[in-house]
Amino acid sequence: MSTTEKTTENAQLKDIISHAKEYGFVFPSSEIYDGLQAVYDYGQNGVELKNNLKTLWWKCMTQLHQNVVGIDAAIFMHPLTWKASGHIDSFNDPMIDNLDSKKRYRADVLLEDKAAEYEKAGDVSKAQALLKEMGRLLEAEDLKAVQQLIISENIKCPVSGTSNWTEVRQFNLMFSTQVGSVAEDSSTIYLRPETAQGIFVNFLNVQKSGRMKVPFGIAQIGKAFRNEIVARQFIFRMREFEQMEMQFFVRPGTEGEWYENWKAWRKNWHLALGVPTEKLRFHDHDKLAHYAKAAVDIEFEFPFGFKEVEGIHSRSDFDLTQHQNLSRKKQQYFDNDLNEDGKPYGNYVPYVVETSVGADRLFLMTLCNAYQEEEITEGDNTKTRTFLKFHPAIAPIKAAVFPLVKKDGLPEKAMQIFDDLKFDFKMIYEERDAIGKRYTRQDLIGTPFCIAVDYETLENDTVTVRERDTREQKRMHISELRQYIGDAVSFKRIFEKL
Ligand code: ATP
Repeated sequence: MSTTEKTTENAQLKDIISHAKEYGFVFPSSEIYDGLQAVYDYGQNGVELKNNLKTLWWKCMTQLHQNVVGIDAAIFMHPLTWKASGHIDSFNDPMIDNLDSKKRYRADVLLEDKAAEYEKAGDVSKAQALLKEMGRLLEAEDLKAVQQLIISENIKCPVSGTSNWTEVRQFNLMFSTQVGSVAEDSSTIYLRPETAQGIFVNFLNVQKSGRMKVPFGIAQIGKAFRNEIVARQFIFRMREFEQMEMQFFVRPGTEGEWYENWKAWRKNWHLALGVPTEKLRFHDHDKLAHYAKAAVDIEFEFPFGFKEVEGIHSRSDFDLTQHQNLSRKKQQYFDNDLNEDGKPYGNYVPYVVETSVGADRLFLMTLCNAYQEEEITEGDNTKTRTFLKFHPAIAPIKAAVFPLVKKDGLPEKAMQIFDDLKFDFKMIYEERDAIGKRYTRQDLIGTPFCIAVDYETLENDTVTVRERDTREQKRMHISELRQYIGDAVSFKRIFEKL
């Protein structure tokens, strides 16, 4: 990647970050104290967008699939959970420090960036060879060789520009804290680094209480915490974030088929949200996590390159078996369907296919994808219009109502429309400034419809409805508004594409 390209990409991300802050989407956490690295707060528009994305995911998983149900498990879990899952022993990232700049990096990320450079320069086979070699060394936990690879690839610290590297060390990403009122009886517990384990430990509770038959899935949305070594790229990598995970329990031997099914279904889901095909791709893992038999990422082309938004993992019976061993409670399912020999399949520990997407990364993808700048000419003037082209179903505000002027009964009429539609949609009423400015403000937060009340409205109950993407205005009767907006913003528009 050339320096100019890199600068344009960074500039794009910078524009998006400042837009997100200026228009109430994302603020740095505790900003008055200069913020806290890799922690962010969602503002008045951001929380609406994020809630819409979460609700959409939830409904797509638990409403469109009659064999997927949801739970909401606690963040704190018994410490043995993390022993069983392997997080205490191996939830590590390889880190490396540059001795001149004193900056810390993830060794795998440095190598991945190098591979991306080769790929961008057209040398795909060199890129693949490097990733393969990295995968092999990490798998073998040969950290000395990982350091050698960084040096032989001539990777330099972007801050100091030198390759004065320390050795590579493993760093556990879990945050820990104490429970118990006095120091003596306190014991260490962890803030969960993934939501998945809350699902595994409830597998039998849900299966029995819901009389669920394999194959079935359990979905969950919740906070997860990781002490990430490198915090960068805005909300792409946070220390406190939200995951939306689904564990799908299947009969052993059928996991390959289910893995392919969910892989295709989840990619389609992102397409249905309005992400163009060329901005999404699958990326098979070069290094499999300790639990995985097969794993693929769905990557989106962020301004900083193709990066993971969602992971699909075939986790075998690893987690349930580990919990069975540590808790000494059977995690088995009795399958009374008949096999080829006409006998019930009987007792087994189900295999699991997982889909795992970060709500915050999905949010960033949605924002990057929606951010549009277009040149518009009005008379002799050409200007740039910035607008957020969200799918109407996830837009934070569905419609804004404006009286053309602040007198002659127009505000009252506009308020009546607002009061009537607010039962159905998240709306805004605005009467300040010229109407052009009000349209601009709604474009900037991605409101799909603006309803203007003018003098004609008082005569015949019609209004103009301006569409965000085309800027076209249509005249329609007030009684048509509910259906017109409702059709466009309904989740059904997304469901029917799945
Ligand atoms: P990465 O390789 O980027 O660290 P990962 O492979 O460790 O991610 P998973 O453990 O598979 O990620 O987590 C599933 C999803 O959770 C990811 O696809 C991502 O969307 C989200 N996620 C993981 N870590 C973070 C984080 N630190 N900040 C925001 N989202 C995250």
